Amino acid sequence: MIDTDELVKRNAGFASDGSFAHLKLMPRGSLTIIGCVDPRVDPSDVLGLKLGEAAVIRNVGGRVTPATLRTLGMLSEVVRSRTGGPGPADYHYAVLQHTDCGITDLAAFPELLADYFDVPASGLDAKAVTDPVAAVRVDVEILKRDLRAGVFVSGLVYDVATGLIDVVVPPARVEA
Ligand SMILES: [Zn+2]
Repeated sequence: MIDTDELVKRNAGFASDGSFAHLKLMPRGSLTIIGCVDPRVDPSDVLGLKLGEAAVIRNVGGRVTPATLRTLGMLSEVVRSRTGGPGPADYHYAVLQHTDCGITDLAAFPELLADYFDVPASGLDAKAVTDPVAAVRVDVEILKRDLRAGVFVSGLVYDVATGLIDVVVPPARVEA
């Protein structure tokens, strides 16, 4: 077990170099990642992101669920309150899913998935939970319908065997 003493020790190491100082709430890279909770696929690590560069939302599968959309809506309000506007026009939202994802195991529990996506069990096929390439396309389309015009949306699939990402949906602007 990684206990609290260990966490405190590691945190002291982190705090000692001062790299966190002067960071702003708004990510420097104008980037939000939606990724999976799987400990192998931490977006900061696999995409080489630095502290303060991206907002990261993680859930089971890195899926765009109603809860994800609610979180994004809340973040937009935070940005508006801090900056007085909608945020940078070139803001980039990236969906990062991956191979060997545990969400595929949940295909055996359609009632859980139906609740997660807020769809009837008969609508789960459209969520493509067993195919990350198809799923990332599904979720990018949902984001395009939900996000403000002008921002960029992309879809990435990370291969846990090679450590490489595949750009399944290149970044494209949300149309008005
Ligand atoms: Zn996963």
